Amino acid sequence: AKESLRGSHCYFTREMEQEAETRFRLLHNLRKAFDADRLFMMFQPQVSVADGRPVGVEALLRWRTEEGEMVPPDRFIPLAESSGLIIHLGEWVLRTAMLQLKRLQHQTSFNLRMGINVSMDQFRHPEFLDVLDRAIAETAVNPQCIELEVTESVAMIDRIAVNKILSSIASRGIKIAIDDFGTGFSSLSYLERLAVHRLKIDKSFIDKLQGDSADPRLAEMIVNLAKDLSLDVIAEGVELAEQAEWLKKINCDEAQGYFYARPLEEARLIEWLHEQEQ
Ligand code: C2E
Ligand code: CA
Ligand code: CA
Ligand code: CA
Repeated sequence: AKESLRGSHCYFTREMEQEAETRFRLLHNLRKAFDADRLFMMFQPQVSVADGRPVGVEALLRWRTEEGEMVPPDRFIPLAESSGLIIHLGEWVLRTAMLQLKRLQHQTSFNLRMGINVSMDQFRHPEFLDVLDRAIAETAVNPQCIELEVTESVAMIDRIAVNKILSSIASRGIKIAIDDFGTGFSSLSYLERLAVHRLKIDKSFIDKLQGDSADPRLAEMIVNLAKDLSLDVIAEGVELAEQAEWLKKINCDEAQGYFYARPLEEARLIEWLHEQEQ
């Protein structure tokens, strides 16, 4: 028994070692890819549910390796976060998305906003506001059209500190959306006092808007909550016409998902927007 225990122990550490090595290699490659400009953004349209009109886009980071393989952000963002790389990477994302918005505003007649994902580590970084100001100044983008997407975990940071940051962001005219809303632990009374502008209903609630046993209760509750708090609301991960119909029924104003459009590269996004103009 002792032998086999020791055996499994060895096996376990070797596995952990291998995992650490894989992560290390991935991080090394991520750094290289970032330095070599092999990271890029895709943009997913956000639309008005009533008439399908584009109202914004969300910037989504992409990594294509030298071998042409796409690494999903859910795999490399956590790595960028735990290594601190996210601070630089996030600054690049802010600036790239802002520049893209400038171009979009020249190329389409829609008054679009740009949703930009911001990691908690970035948000809490003492220089975040400076970084934000610098990006706005350098890109000369209208801050009113920028919407930062943060998760509900902002509510877990010290209340006074978080409100100070949120208020400073809001005072620049920049909007804040709570991403993946409904999956976290933020208390409603707390939410009421935060300087946020929009709730993004998590895909898990939109998944329930289909079939004979469709259950719109939670999605509807979030829509009503948003309205009670005078916040805007958008549904994420809408894949089916049926779900879009439900959104109309529960008065959710905006939506995003494969049903309307997938994340698109810049050129394709412009084409898509032009198609919507007709
Ligand atoms: P998220 O912010 O919740 O982004 C929405 C994710 O859902 C995106 O995945 C998008 O491609 C996907 N999606 C959109 N519509 C549909 C749909 O109808 N069905 C399904 N199944 N999926 C849909 P993606 O691009 O793989 O990004 C995953 C996550 O990685 C994001 O979740 C976000 O948390 C993070 N992320 C992406 N880009 C950035 C970035 O620039 N900075 C930071 N900090 N995080 C990012
Ligand atoms: Ca997001
Ligand atoms: Ca989300
Ligand atoms: Ca997410």
